[in-house]
Amino acid sequence: MVWKMPLFLFGTQMSIKWILLFVLIPFISSYNDSELELRTMRLMKQSPLIDGHNDFALQIRRLYQNKLSRINLRILNSTRTNIKKLKDGYVGAQFWSAYVLCSSQDKDAVRLALEQIDVIKRMCNEYDELELVTSSEGIVNTSKLACLIGVEGGHAIDSSLGTLRMFYDLGVRYMGLTHTCNTPWAETSSYGVHSSYQDTKSLTDFGKEVVKEMNRIGMIIDLSHTSFNTSREVLNISKAPVIFSHSAAFALCNINRNIPDDILKGIKKNKGLVMVNFHTQFVACQKTANISDVADHFDYISSIAGFQSVGIGGDYDGVNGFPRGLEDPSKYPSLIQELLRRGWKDNELEGVLRANFLRVFREVEKVRDEQIYMKPSEEEISADELNYSCRLDLRSFEPKNLQKSGGQEKGRSMIDLILSIWIIFFANMFV
Ligand SMILES: [Zn+2]
Repeated sequence: MVWKMPLFLFGTQMSIKWILLFVLIPFISSYNDSELELRTMRLMKQSPLIDGHNDFALQIRRLYQNKLSRINLRILNSTRTNIKKLKDGYVGAQFWSAYVLCSSQDKDAVRLALEQIDVIKRMCNEYDELELVTSSEGIVNTSKLACLIGVEGGHAIDSSLGTLRMFYDLGVRYMGLTHTCNTPWAETSSYGVHSSYQDTKSLTDFGKEVVKEMNRIGMIIDLSHTSFNTSREVLNISKAPVIFSHSAAFALCNINRNIPDDILKGIKKNKGLVMVNFHTQFVACQKTANISDVADHFDYISSIAGFQSVGIGGDYDGVNGFPRGLEDPSKYPSLIQELLRRGWKDNELEGVLRANFLRVFREVEKVRDEQIYMKPSEEEISADELNYSCRLDLRSFEPKNLQKSGGQEKGRSMIDLILSIWIIFFANMFV
């Protein structure tokens, strides 16, 4: 017997369908969410994140005067970052910023930078979960959370290529050419914040020498905080790919810390990398933002520069104000999940998480190796480009100045003279 539904029930059947649909929607979406969550976890386990910028070391100085013995970095909760949160966020490698305040320029910037490098090295040595690495191979080979060092602000080298090279020897692998102040040789994106070296425009001849030397020694050039013209000039002359370690897209939030389209295209050509900053003022140009606002920058930068030029530089502990759902490094998976929801493919996200940075780092190392025959640059900045008096100008140094400078050397000469006379006198007695 064929059962026929009475016509009067047809409308009811349709209603049942709709009711079923509404009842099932939450289950379907939660199924999709848990599916996305699983994919996110799988992806991040396979490709642990390399994050381009974290100012935790600055907070260690500010809150604890770099006294690591007073704190437990595994569970520290006065900062956004701790080791547990990094692990929960599947962070595989972290660039720790050796940040140098602009107010230290022409004073004790080199000492401050050295002290920040010291505290980063100490924390990475003291905790078993961490390991300091200085090469792309080091990131790949360690089973621990890889620590890398980036100096933030070119004023840290005090216009000295020798100091730049010594930072490299200490393990520094990127340097931001400026922070919020001009240096004598590079222009910042933060106009009017500091009054120093206001005449510096773009990149000077000495600035070009800094870029060349960074290429030669294998130090990655970081353009976050530089002016648009400085970035354009560097992109014109750098032989190696460059990075923005913590910046976002100007088209979505038009502040000078973000990157306009022509520079994004330059990054694509240079095969460089934009590691996207999460700060609410940079992603949404206001105090509040959400994960979707951050994801928009990933979509946008990828559409202009290609997904191969997109990375992550959260800027945790460097600023106040992070989007809802991305308050600390443990929340990185939420962003990856959102990008998956938007249709990003697994291989594209593997690039964002890890492979894109490794490619850039390997290329920087290759450019270094290709220049192995080149001698270190002996260029010096000209004295009239510097305007502070406490720098000793050794170019006018003459040995006689030293002898004149104190009685100690004079006394020493007298002793030497008397000794010589006695030696000659005794020698003659035995001839
Ligand atoms: Zn910064």
